[in-house]
Amino acid sequence: MSQKIPRAIRNKIIERAEHRCEYCRIPDTDSYYGFQVDHIISRKHGGEDELGNFAYACPDCNRYKGSDLGTYLGKNFDFVRFFHPRIDDWSYHFELQTSGLIIGKTDIGNATLKIFAINHPDRIIERKVLCQLGLMDVFT
Ligand SMILES: [Zn+2]
Repeated sequence: MSQKIPRAIRNKIIERAEHRCEYCRIPDTDSYYGFQVDHIISRKHGGEDELGNFAYACPDCNRYKGSDLGTYLGKNFDFVRFFHPRIDDWSYHFELQTSGLIIGKTDIGNATLKIFAINHPDRIIERKVLCQLGLMDVFT
């Protein structure tokens, strides 16, 4: 659906994201496949085509997220929404370690990690290499 977003708006979204996936933080220069503009709240759930509802996402995060808004966590199956790049602070919900692993610091962080498969072994290795090359910041 990103093809319907005018180039000027798309460029604004990319600049705002500093050329990184707003969920897993990998730089877009590392992606073989193009990054995408994600509707944080999908159209299916009433999300609008507006800057406040757009996030810049790598193909993996965008694919795993799909139109979902959250998931159920814990033994009580409490519904937890996903990380929202426009209203949430990444470092509050996640921590990137030099091993490439991203730790969830909150339920929102953990719900996002779980459904977006952010800690799939291949993705951890990719981030580890990016950290070693100085292409990814480690947030604490
Ligand atoms: Zn990502």
